[in-house]
Amino acid sequence: MTDLSGRVALVTGGTRGIGLATVRALVEAGATVVLTGRDEARAKEAASAAGAAAGLALDVTDAKAVSSLVRGVAKEHGKLDVVVANAGIMEDALLGMIREELVDTTLSTNVAGTLHTVQAAARAMMRKKTGAIVVLASIVGEYGSAGQTVYAASKAAVANIAKSAAKELGRSGIRVNAVAPGVIETDLTAGLSEDAKAENTGKTPLGRLGRAEDVANAIRFLVSDEASFITGQVLGVDGGLVL
Ligand code: NAD
Repeated sequence: MTDLSGRVALVTGGTRGIGLATVRALVEAGATVVLTGRDEARAKEAASAAGAAAGLALDVTDAKAVSSLVRGVAKEHGKLDVVVANAGIMEDALLGMIREELVDTTLSTNVAGTLHTVQAAARAMMRKKTGAIVVLASIVGEYGSAGQTVYAASKAAVANIAKSAAKELGRSGIRVNAVAPGVIETDLTAGLSEDAKAENTGKTPLGRLGRAEDVANAIRFLVSDEASFITGQVLGVDGGLVL
């Protein structure tokens, strides 16, 4: 069992889905975990249900808010060892139907939001010269996906944030990796038709869709000392699915 006792961790978008499963996995391994959600009441509720130390309101598109929240968590707990930049949105649109607003919200949440979180995490971890960051890419960021050009492009950017930040932060003892989930059953994918789910299951060698816990377990590994020589990687958590 992975031991994260004594570690302080922050998970963005930790109120449900993969984020909440990650909070639970880190708490189970002994870490002190702070989660964030867009809604303060929901964040507090999720934190108390999952055994997290605190649930705070945060919109990751707001760079100043991200910076001050991360600084505050590090100050309150004396350090910050682990940051999981999980918050993200997905909205489908065929090429001809893509509205400017969809481009803005997707890029500001998935790309800029992840960047703000990684920047703030790096600043907080730099002082102790140690830390582990995981960002949430996606299988579609590698293969592309019809009807998901904006989302897929945003997730390709997220994977690259991990690779570039890993190069920049390695000498400071900070590791940065991405997980690239396949199709995971959460609120994000709840709108998928039964036909689409069956098609994806059929294309998955392990014969099922993913669970939030499958991704959380991979994240827990990547932030642990068991992964101490792993950085700049994009780990597929997809049951072998090839799109
Ligand atoms: P979800 O919709 O259940 O959860 C997303 C979380 O992000 C929510 O807590 C939401 O409130 C939060 N969030 C969204 N916008 C935010 C903002 N501006 N500021 C702060 N928080 C914000 O989705 P999920 O399936 O748990 O996805 C988690 C991450 O994994 C996302 O980045 C998603 O793109 C990625 N991912 C999911 C799948 C999948 O199949 N579910 C596949 C690949 C990648």
